[in-house]
Amino acid sequence: MDAKMFREFGKAAVDFVADYLENIRDHDVLPSVEPGYMLQQLPKQMPESPEHWQHILADIDRVVKPGITHWQSPNMHAYYPTSVSYPSIVGEMLASGFSVIGFSWICSPACTELEVVVMDWLAKFLKLPAHFLHETEGPGGGVIQGSASEAVLVAVLAAREQAVRRERERRPELSESDIRGKLIAYSSDQSNSCIEKSGVLAAMPIKLLPAGEDLVLRGAALEAAIERDVAAGYIPVICIATLGTTGTCAYDDIESLASVCEAHQVWLHVDAAYAGGAFALDECAELRRGLERVDSLNFNLHKFMLVNFDCAAMWLRDANKVVDSFNVDRIYLKHKYEGHTQIPDFRHWQIPLGRRFRALKVWITFRTLGAEGLRAHVRKHIQLAAQFESLVLADPRFELVAPRALGLVCFRAKGDNEITSQLLHRLMERKKIYMVKAEHGGRQFLRFAVCGMDPKPTDIEFAWREIETQLTALSADQQVETRKAGEIADLTQHL
Ligand code: PLP
Repeated sequence: MDAKMFREFGKAAVDFVADYLENIRDHDVLPSVEPGYMLQQLPKQMPESPEHWQHILADIDRVVKPGITHWQSPNMHAYYPTSVSYPSIVGEMLASGFSVIGFSWICSPACTELEVVVMDWLAKFLKLPAHFLHETEGPGGGVIQGSASEAVLVAVLAAREQAVRRERERRPELSESDIRGKLIAYSSDQSNSCIEKSGVLAAMPIKLLPAGEDLVLRGAALEAAIERDVAAGYIPVICIATLGTTGTCAYDDIESLASVCEAHQVWLHVDAAYAGGAFALDECAELRRGLERVDSLNFNLHKFMLVNFDCAAMWLRDANKVVDSFNVDRIYLKHKYEGHTQIPDFRHWQIPLGRRFRALKVWITFRTLGAEGLRAHVRKHIQLAAQFESLVLADPRFELVAPRALGLVCFRAKGDNEITSQLLHRLMERKKIYMVKAEHGGRQFLRFAVCGMDPKPTDIEFAWREIETQLTALSADQQVETRKAGEIADLTQHL
């Protein structure tokens, strides 16, 4: 493909994407395909001769699109939003055009420096403590990771290495493997699966402490667990708290957890993958309470900042702790500007060596929307969730199971779990809206998350109509079945 053909293909692809996103409401949010649908349509081997891009684009429409779950549809309400915007898509395309692998400053100075700039912009926008800024004198700073899972793993691994070093000095009688065998970490039973996985990957057990009735993890529970474990010879390493849990968007009590962590020299990480976007709002200032005391935190721009996946911000109070833990050198990685205070070599801050130029899409998105536009986006999600909540509350057949939090409403049909379960089954069969179930205290419930590229109040009305009419239909079917069962019972009695 030469540049001329690239221009044609690229322009056609832009039109394809714009048409797709503009008309996304035309599709059911869930695809109507069976497992293996694509395998049957595509050849078993790559083509021997080159094909024209027009044929390939036609196949994207014919074969790929039918198998897409439309995450950018406003009828997507499962999980949490994964945001996108036109400027971010353009940023992604430009980054692909440059295709740099910016693991150190010299590998592409713009890649590193733009990341420093946008991470400081974002830290200020979210009103994070100044010590997380690159521009503040000191060892703190921000970096873009691929996902929240990666950010959590980086924190867990760095905390583990710091703890091993500290303990080796403190207790020289212990061997390194003795120390490693005693390490232990903590989180809440409401935390995301990636927290537990980071423990598996780091070969360090992470205890999932029971959150209270209100699904919040507090210092008292952590203190009790640490005291028990220290008495049993364990070495506490890190606590991973969550602001905005995946199930119900609950907020752990950072202040009380920080007090316990400080007392026991335990690293405190905050996973704010979703809720971090609300730090920017004055009306949500309460969420930021205690952040000045945490060692690290993460927030997914691909959830709330209109920057497409993958883009997970991570801030460290002392980045040296990560750099020292992960620093592995080779002669071919060296360059003469290494160690410059204002230009980190981000390869030391992450798991892979190579890194994408993600800052470009962030920069373009932030400039195109402005802080004002980003705040308006978060507020819109909150307002749409409030609209949905009021519809739930006005219908006596439904109940809320947790307070509405940001763009998430957790609700269920009153009665036993079976009704909620069957309701979801019906909705999934119809494919008009997509939600997932969760469970707490033996009660199953549905999570309604405001998602999609540009959700509107009419989309919320659409979703609610779908939900409540399906509950009506379910009740009608159940009545028919009960009547039939009664008739059969009567008949059997008469025989
Ligand atoms: N943490 C929380 C609170 C989440 O809700 C999620 C995903 O929704 C994650 C972590 C995992 O995010 P990622 O896919 O970026 O690893």
